[in-house]
Order: sequence, then C-alpha cells, then structure tokens
Amino acid sequence: MTTTPLEIPDVSRRVHLECDVLVIGGGTAGSMAAITAAEHGRDVLLLEKAHVRHSGALAMGMDGVNNAVIPGKATPEDYVAEITKANDGIVDQRTVMQTATRGFAMVQRLERYGVKFEKDSYGDYHVRQVHRSGSYVLPMPEGKDVKKVLYRVMRERRMRERIRIENRVMPVRVLVSEGRAVGAAGFNTRTGEFVTVSAGSVILATGASGRLGLPASGYLYGTYENPTNAGDGYSMAYHAGAELSGIECFQINPLIKDYNGPACAYVGNPFGAYQVNRLGERFVDCDYWSGQMMAEVAREIASPRGPVYLKVTHLPEESIAALEGILHTTERPTRGTFHAGRGHDYRTHDIEMHISEIGLCGGHSASGVWVDENGATTVPGLYAAGDLACVPHNYMIGAFVFGDLAGAHASRHGVRPGPLPEDQVAAAHELVYRPLRHPDGPPQPQVEYKLRRFVNDYVAPPKTGAKLHVALEAFARMEGEIAAMGARTPHELMRCAEVTFIRDCAEMAAQASLMRTESRWGLYHERLDVPERDDETWFHHLNLRKGDTGRMEFVKRPVHPYLVPVDGVEHRPGRVEYLGSLSVRAAEVAGVRQASGAAGSPRLLELVALAEEQPDLAALEPYLGDDDPAVRRAAVATLTEVVPAGFEFALV
Ligand SMILES: Cc1cc2nc3c(=O)[nH]c(=O)nc-3n(C[C@H](O)[C@H](O)[C@H](O)COP(=O)(O)OP(=O)(O)OC[C@H]3O[C@@H](n4cnc5c(N)ncnc54)[C@H](O)[C@@H]3O)c2cc1C
Repeated sequence: MTTTPLEIPDVSRRVHLECDVLVIGGGTAGSMAAITAAEHGRDVLLLEKAHVRHSGALAMGMDGVNNAVIPGKATPEDYVAEITKANDGIVDQRTVMQTATRGFAMVQRLERYGVKFEKDSYGDYHVRQVHRSGSYVLPMPEGKDVKKVLYRVMRERRMRERIRIENRVMPVRVLVSEGRAVGAAGFNTRTGEFVTVSAGSVILATGASGRLGLPASGYLYGTYENPTNAGDGYSMAYHAGAELSGIECFQINPLIKDYNGPACAYVGNPFGAYQVNRLGERFVDCDYWSGQMMAEVAREIASPRGPVYLKVTHLPEESIAALEGILHTTERPTRGTFHAGRGHDYRTHDIEMHISEIGLCGGHSASGVWVDENGATTVPGLYAAGDLACVPHNYMIGAFVFGDLAGAHASRHGVRPGPLPEDQVAAAHELVYRPLRHPDGPPQPQVEYKLRRFVNDYVAPPKTGAKLHVALEAFARMEGEIAAMGARTPHELMRCAEVTFIRDCAEMAAQASLMRTESRWGLYHERLDVPERDDETWFHHLNLRKGDTGRMEFVKRPVHPYLVPVDGVEHRPGRVEYLGSLSVRAAEVAGVRQASGAAGSPRLLELVALAEEQPDLAALEPYLGDDDPAVRRAAVATLTEVVPAGFEFALV
C-alpha cells in the first residue's frame, strides 16, 4: 500500500518560536549549553531531531572520560602538549587549554548532578593510564545514566521555566541577517509542520558528521557514530557563512570487526588488555589515539600479520567479568549478544578489531567548525560546541566544557533580532519539502548508499589527487539525483534533508583533502601522491567557507603561538593567506588523470555545474570547442541531455 504524500505546507503556515538562545542538538554539548544559558537567566529553546532523553553519542552509554585532567594526576600543560603532538602541531592551544583547565570543574559539576566517577579507596578520582604518558582516563561505573541525569536537571522546575525543549524538530538552516545569526528554519519530523525560530544567538551542537563513509557492513545506520549525526551542523554552519577547519583531517576509529561498536581498548587496556596481530605481537607504537595510531592499525591489518585483535583471553576471570559488565551493559547491550551469536567469549576468543568508516569529528580528530576559546564561530551570534567544533580530541568532557562556554557566551547577546530573512526561510522550506513534489523519485536509502559508496571509493584514505577529483565530479553529478529524491512522510523528509548534509560534507572533505598538498595526521590525511609532510608550506590551519559567489573558498590561518612549548614540535609563525576556490587552482593542486589527459579537468566540473542550469547553445559552445577531448565529449553529451531550444531537430 502506498502512503498518500504529505501535503506541502505553505511557507507562511508555520510554527514560529522565539528565544534568547537557540540550541540546535540536545546531546552532550547542547544539553550543557542549554543548562548554562538558563543559569544565566536566558530563555532557551532546545531543538532536537530525536528525543533529548536518550539522543546523541551519550545515549549509548559512556564507560569513562577519555581526557580528564585531574589535579595531582596530570597537568593542563601535559595534556595540551599531548594533544598538540597527536595533532602534528596544528592546534590552537587556546581552545585545548580550556578543556584542560575546565575539565576538572566539569567532572565535579556532573558529580553534583548525580553522575558517578570511579574513586579509589582514599576517595580520589581513579584515573587510568592508557597511553605511555599521562593518566587521563576516568571510568564511569554507571555511565549508562549520564544522559538521563542531564535530562532530569533540565526538567527541574527552575530549569523548566527557562528551557523549552522541542523534540522531533530538526532545523536545516541557520538564518543570517546583516552578517549575524538570527534564528533557524526547519520542520517537525513527526507532523511535517514548518518551523521558524527568531533567536538572539544560535548554538550548533549537532555532533559529528558520522554518516559520511559507509561502514564495512554496508548498513547505512550501522556507523561508529550515533547515526542521527549526519553532518547537519557542518552543513548549516557552512551555508551560514562560518569557517570550518581541518576538514581534511578525517575521523577513523578502531572498532570491533563487523559490529561497528568501539573496540574499547580504553576500557580494556587498564585491565591488562592490549592490541596484537595474529602472531600475538604487539604493534601499536605511538602514544596517543591519533591518525598515526590508525595508520599503524590499518597497515597491520593489511599486512600478512593481520587480522588484529584486542587481546583479552589471558586476563583473570575477575577482569573479564568486570570488562563484560562495562562493555555489555554501559557501553552497548548488543555487544554481548553479538559475540554470543558467533560463539565467542572473552575467555576463549580475543576480539577482532578493524577500522571504522570515515567521518568528520572535532571530538575524535580535528575536523570541525572553526571556533575561538568561547565556542564562537566567525559568524557573529553563531556558536559551535561538541564534536562538530574544531577543538582536537575534545571527546565527551570537551563537549561539556565547550557547551558550557558557548552557553555562557551566547547569553551575552540577549537582544532579539528583527524580522527573519524571508528569502532564506523560503529556501529552507524548499530544501525540506522538495521531495514531496516527486514522491516516486529515487528513494533516500538508494541515493544515500550511492553517495557514501563514492565517499568510500574516492575520498577515504589513502587519498590521491586523481581520486579526489573523481569524487568531486560524482558529488557534483549527484546534486541532481539528490534534488530528485522522493518522499511521502515527515520521517522520509528528514532522511532526504540528511542526504543533502552528507553531500555537503563529502564535498568539503574532498575539496579540503585536495587543497592540502601534503600528508599529515597519519591515516587521517594520507596522500599517496604527496606522501611527505611539508611544514614549510602547510604548518597552517586550512579553513574553508562559502564565499560571496556561493563557491567554496579556502584560507590558510597561521597556528597561534603555543601557550605550552612541545618537545619535538617546532612552532612556525605564519600569516593569513587567501587561497580562493579549488576549481580555479585545481590544475595546480591536484594530480588529475594524466594518461588520457582528462577525467579531473576543472572545465569538466564547470560543465557539470552548467548542465544543471539548462544552458543554451551559446553557453555550451566554448566547451564544444575545448582543447581537451574529454571536455568536448562531455559537452556533446550535455547537449543531447539538455537539448537547448532550437536544437531539437538535430537530435531526432
Ligand atoms: C561510540 C562512541 C564511544 C565514545 N566513547 C567515549 C568515551 O568512552 N569517553 C569519552 O570521553 N568520549 C567518548 N566518545 C565521544 C563523546 O561521546 C562525544 O565527543 C560527545 O558525546 C559529543 O557530544 P556532542 O554534543 O557533540 O554530540 P551528541 O551528543 O551526539 O549530540 C548531537 C545531538 O544533535 C542532534 N542533532 C543532529 N542534527 C540535528 C538537527 N539538524 N536538528 C536537531 N538535532 C540534531 C542529535 O540527534 C544528537 O542528539 C564516544 C563517542 C562515540 C560515538
């Protein structure tokens, strides 16, 4: 039975909401941002596409804090140095220092809310050493309840009066007027109603871009990340004109083969677990969870010494029981079932590990929205906190810290703006409801699968200029397919909007990876065609933004002078350098296909973009006479596809 498609609501028939501080995404960072802004006396609106009580990365349970800097156990300076090393020097230490110096107070605040952290017999926080230097991992024995605790705080009477939560409401665009963020537009994913919001300031807290690559299982939502985090905030920040940084520094994580949950070496290692190859040899040589470590894991898996395992079978019964308690209850209840289904048990089988699909995530690597030490983006009134912000390796405690900072800073704006920019409201309305106009168009799962397969084939490391060019052609081509997707229900509309975010993230990932013509961060940005690290040219942040012409443009930003000197990393001063758009520089920066002289030509990309605009013959003429035969061939194909007026006779 086919469902009758939802009726498209008129753009004027909308639910309109107002607030001082709008928080988009009610996970770790968003919940904390809302609580802090409310504590500052602001009227807060928290919009969550799922349900705040159990949404986001925390909802799956958290077994411990990855990066707690507890006085007496570690120093902020050690932590900042560690993160700087793990990120090959490209770090704004001012942001990382916030997490280092405020993380402990945040642990205590969470404890006051009711979150439990492991303590030793003296009542001290029982941090564990997982890496060779520094003890930062603080177990949370009842970590499965963190989100419930936060929700309870937000529902306390004093908070309820200040924080309005709207579950199942999904913004798709931040609205910008006279250069500052003034609200958002989106829709209700259950009723299909169109929703607009006027706000004094906007905090994006929508988590990672976790549905970028396809997991090895092929399941669209079987991702390492919480699958509602489709890169919404990355796309919204981009379209609002904010800068994003380090997008080429992908997230890739170790996980359990075929299960796509984290392998949890962080949990296992303090109990005596460790990573081995099939010969039982240890192979991970680097200190911190980093791209370098992922490169070592990937190399070992691909070598004759693979597969690789988390070795647990040697552990005594009480350690195994403790591990099962944490991993099969707090972390993911399905994990025990998964192992049992294969007849595996930690007493008899080590855990086979693999590497995850690629994603963008400040929290695990460094790819995110560019923020200062208060979470402010380059657009006044717009903030970003949590995994979508570029504060390297920030994890859960960093998401809380930056949620708090953004909530406090955003509260300073207060003033509600004037009328919303109706052209942007109309564009958001079109983005949301477009699939209802052609309900039998290609279904979202099919289009998303295809898009993410291209990501796996051409963007995932090891990268090459030629592959990245092919990716960009595919993503440009797919704009048409995405616009043609069909939907009938509000839920399907949500999925279709998510595909547009994934495409935006895919394009940013490919363009940024092309632009940085060196290899850095181990596997995260391994370019086979430019395998060396080039500090001379690239000891810089690479930022991207949507330019005034609507095209993606790049800026190199110098690394701010270090607050903490780091052994083995030489800081290099630099200056801001505008790099322009990739298509203009494509021939210089990319290894386009040489043999036939084509495949990645920027002229081809221009032509693909032109084809979307129903060009007339005059517009196509320069391409029909292009020097490059591939461009000429593509121009003829475009001609037969678009059939400009007056040309039909030649094609019968
Ligand atoms: C599997 C896994 C294990 C981890 N383990 C640990 C660990 O042990 N220790 C540790 O310190 N860190 C860990 N982390 C990292 C930590 O969980 C994250 O860094 C942190 O929770 C990120 O918080 P966030 O607020 O950015 O994202 P989230 O908490 O995921 O919140 C994002 C929210 O935004 C919502 N959303 C998305 N798009 C929209 C939209 N358009 N409109 C409305 N809402 C939207 C989502 O539904 C979600 O609720 C882990 C992460 C994962 C994925």
